[in-house]
Amino acid sequence: MAPSKSLLQRVQAQPVATSVVKRALEEDRLHHAYLFEGPGGVGKRLAAYGIAQVLVCEQPKTTEACGECRSCIRVHRAYENNSAEHPDVIRLAIGAYEPAAIGRKTPESTEISIDQIRTMVLARSAFGPVEGRAKIFILDGAEKLSIGAANALLKILEEPEARTRFLLLSARSKSLLPTIRSRTLAVRFRPLPIQVQNTLITEDDARRDYLDLSDGSFDTASELAQEANRAMLDALANALDAGDLEASLQAAATAKGKREVVASALALLANRTRQSARDAAGLRLAERFELIARAERDLRRNMAPQLCLESFVLRALQP
Ligand SMILES: [Zn+2]
Repeated sequence: MAPSKSLLQRVQAQPVATSVVKRALEEDRLHHAYLFEGPGGVGKRLAAYGIAQVLVCEQPKTTEACGECRSCIRVHRAYENNSAEHPDVIRLAIGAYEPAAIGRKTPESTEISIDQIRTMVLARSAFGPVEGRAKIFILDGAEKLSIGAANALLKILEEPEARTRFLLLSARSKSLLPTIRSRTLAVRFRPLPIQVQNTLITEDDARRDYLDLSDGSFDTASELAQEANRAMLDALANALDAGDLEASLQAAATAKGKREVVASALALLANRTRQSARDAAGLRLAERFELIARAERDLRRNMAPQLCLESFVLRALQP
């Protein structure tokens, strides 16, 4: 992609989200905190850095960043590399900073710590922007805030400095504290249609083979394209076909913590079952479908992915 194009222009197939953002920029009434919610890899981060680009661009045309000035190029680089390139565009995410930089002894592993919020947000948000027209905090994976971090952030969201903007991104926004949600303007990002996904990646991109199982999320396609996950899917499908309980459970056990992979594994199994239904008259196929649907429901209701898959295997292979 040519760097001259502004990031906001690159957001695809999100007509509602982009129009909300563009209208706010046009009318110069950008909310102080947005929550971009929706699946991973559909444009939330791109839109957030796109807004940042407009707010720090040295020669903006109302709603558009020029895409070419020094500031635009730095924000572009920050988007591509998750790096700190511009003093007014600050990324917050698990492990985004060395422990010493945020006053910790150990790295963050499961949560965005209060240390990160204290050092990167509280210590900075009271001051205005350094170079641009606003200071922008992009919180990638907002559902990972620790309770302490969320409460610290809450104080700022309640009394924001005039030229500070918060852009919270989350693929699992239901896990956010309701108090955080209620202080942000939620903007929903949709799964990408497969035709759009196809135009956004190169011919030899490994994710291409998994787009039909990815529910319109590039993050899910990336997960599926990882060799370990592919191996898990194959092992599980083969073991189920062979009626091998032990091997099925072994495969299911490797799904620990991999919600998107399990969702796709179930979709893949449903496809296969449909295929076998066409190939031969399997007596228990309807039953298998029902079990898959039940596992999909469990997963949506937040059951741990490994447990969900193991329960499915046990129901499927133990009459
Ligand atoms: Zn610019």
